Amino acid sequence: MLGRETPPPTKRALKFGVDLPSPQNGPSENISPIKSLNPYQNNWTIKGCVTNKRKMHKYNTPKRNGQVFSFDIIDEEGCEIRITSFDEIAELHYHQIEQGASYVLSKGTVKDVNKVYNKLNNQLEIILTETSVLKRCALDAVGPDKKTRFTPTDELLTTTNNTLIDVIGVVVNVGEISVIRRKDGSVVNKRIVKINDMSTLTIDVNLWGPSSEQLGNDLKNMHTSGTFVILVVQNARVGCFNGKVINASASIAFEINPSIPEAEPLRLRGPIQQSLDPHPSALHCKNNQYQRMSIASILQCLSVMPEAIETTITTVLRFIKEDPFYYTACPLQFNGKECKKKCAKLAENLWSCPRCQTQFPECNYKYLLQMKLQDHTGTIWANAFDNIGTKLFSLSTKELYMLQYDLTTEKTPHIILKKAMFKHYTFATLVSTDTFNSERRIKVTIDKMQRLDFKAESTCLLAEIAQMHAVT
Ligand SMILES: [Zn+2]
Repeated sequence: MLGRETPPPTKRALKFGVDLPSPQNGPSENISPIKSLNPYQNNWTIKGCVTNKRKMHKYNTPKRNGQVFSFDIIDEEGCEIRITSFDEIAELHYHQIEQGASYVLSKGTVKDVNKVYNKLNNQLEIILTETSVLKRCALDAVGPDKKTRFTPTDELLTTTNNTLIDVIGVVVNVGEISVIRRKDGSVVNKRIVKINDMSTLTIDVNLWGPSSEQLGNDLKNMHTSGTFVILVVQNARVGCFNGKVINASASIAFEINPSIPEAEPLRLRGPIQQSLDPHPSALHCKNNQYQRMSIASILQCLSVMPEAIETTITTVLRFIKEDPFYYTACPLQFNGKECKKKCAKLAENLWSCPRCQTQFPECNYKYLLQMKLQDHTGTIWANAFDNIGTKLFSLSTKELYMLQYDLTTEKTPHIILKKAMFKHYTFATLVSTDTFNSERRIKVTIDKMQRLDFKAESTCLLAEIAQMHAVT
């Protein structure tokens, strides 16, 4: 048995809830599911497998200094919870806790989590107290399914972003550390490790912060010295950046060359030479400036998008909003360029621009298109401006606008817009997210366009298929 001697059951006054029988040491312990915990009842016993043991670290607050250590456990129902301990209690438990082992825990303070520090899918966490009893189970194998469930990399294409997963793969490349500037201006180190699993797809594991240094350096040294390395990453988050990636922050757990059955097939298979090819989800076409992505993978980027991405979509233009397809623009010069700011009609033949602070008799017209794009994976709304509209309809905005008043032709804006629909195009787009009414939205702006070149498209697709076969 690991851990200190079990203290005699202490009867504590309970202000809330039911006083359950005290936990016994035998196998007939009353184990509660983690999900049944609540802050008002402190007589419980839970059992779970350690999915993530963190390093002990020091803290300094105005009130006191000390050390803190935390780990996560998961029970048989797949419910996770974080367990944190401070100072002497942290010292006491730090060396007992082993990644992957199962423990029975009773007593401790159950409290609401601070979501800034704790991203687990549980509103509660446990703080160990002096009366907490933590015992290792005799049978570590009694863990939840998640413990040994490694997600194959080809399954990641359909895995929702932010899902926590475990992966196992052969390390095929370890990149250098790069410094990434976050949106808030702070910087963080990042290192990309490419791994390749039995599904033979290579995926980027992004090591962030301390893991990019410690783990990253170890992996780099082993890999450059020619050591065959199998890496297990647990509790990593699925993300999307030029295709699917796995984000491994400080809270992940990892193991190098583990002695587990899942590592055997990889060992027998050995390294793969061509494994530096990019993940097919990125659909990287080397002669294209932009990455090719499906609409589904763009939509999946909504939840996690480190930065805006440039991507091409091969798509059918399903629909263009007709009313309106333009905006009234200021025709004046501003700072040596056409102003183009949206101007307002004050009266007949009298327009005003808020930027130029000037009035003029006639406005200009500029395309402001909202278009629905569709590929084999889904649909998405995109915005496009004058450069795209002019190319799409082969008419300037004003020419198209004036058609509705031109009685000498049967062509109307409606007919012209409709003619552009249900055709194949390749759009180069900029995809970013913004927040509107505290809801995150995806924003697609079309930067360039061309009618689909079927021959070039086929060549590109064939090259990608060949690339996939080369890895297999
Ligand atoms: Zn203006």
